[in-house]
Amino acid sequence: MAPQPPLRTIALVAHDGQKADLLAWARHNREVLAGHRLVATGTTGQLLADELGLEVLRLESGPLGGDMQLGAMIAEGGVDVLVFLWDPLSAQPHEPDVRALLRMATLWNVPVASNRATADLLVTSPLLTDPVYVRQVPDHATHRDRLLARGEGRTAPPRAPALA
Ligand code: PGA
Repeated sequence: MAPQPPLRTIALVAHDGQKADLLAWARHNREVLAGHRLVATGTTGQLLADELGLEVLRLESGPLGGDMQLGAMIAEGGVDVLVFLWDPLSAQPHEPDVRALLRMATLWNVPVASNRATADLLVTSPLLTDPVYVRQVPDHATHRDRLLARGEGRTAPPRAPALA
């Protein structure tokens, strides 16, 4: 039997100024998105569920901690792709959380799209459904050991399993 294409977990976040953009993009890519696990910050997730009928695990709204919840999911290995349409023209009250989320994605080698063109490339990449492709997840052991040696770190907690 041919190997099944893997289910990936795709995280979606759009700032208010970009929500129409995300919705239009998601409508265009609805079929692909429906074939994966979706997780989103509160309002973004609601929009995708209401307008497109997509099944989405909804976290807290971004400014209320949703970005940080996503950042934690990334650190636990629970996100494969992040589509984060952040607003380049407006200041956000939760700017530190936005920065932290992007930092987590970079730290853990999670592909990030911050505009529609990149998001198009990500969801049409053959690697998304290649059963053999496994994204390299850095273990950051050297950094962790250095912190431990200085007495600043704790041993890493067990990694949470990916969402079922
Ligand atoms: P929202 O959050 O989906 O709840 O609007 C997005 C954000 O501002 O980070």
